[in-house]
Amino acid sequence: MLLLRCPYCGVDCDETELSPGGEAHLKRFGPGSEDADFEGYLFQRENPKGVHFERWRHANGCGKWFHAARCTVTLEVFGTYSAQLTEPPQDIKDAITAKRPGWHWREFA
Ligand SMILES: [Zn+2]
Repeated sequence: MLLLRCPYCGVDCDETELSPGGEAHLKRFGPGSEDADFEGYLFQRENPKGVHFERWRHANGCGKWFHAARCTVTLEVFGTYSAQLTEPPQDIKDAITAKRPGWHWREFA
């Protein structure tokens, strides 16, 4: 079972307390944007085999959205952090790099 710590209330939650929100760090495009950009925002996802950044909501707790970094192969969780951040905190990046040498942060499309 997936266990994530809510970064707002500090509670360790199992997935039954959470609601998934898809991929984190998407660049949003709205009205007035190019069709290709809007299509990419709606439909294109990284779906990696490895380190992935996801949005989760502590639905049966504080109700806030947060981000989680985890591996889709091993289900190892590298950390959770505020959904207000545009990229993971350095300690989470360091934790990922320690376990996955050669991994590096990149901007999302
Ligand atoms: Zn919470």
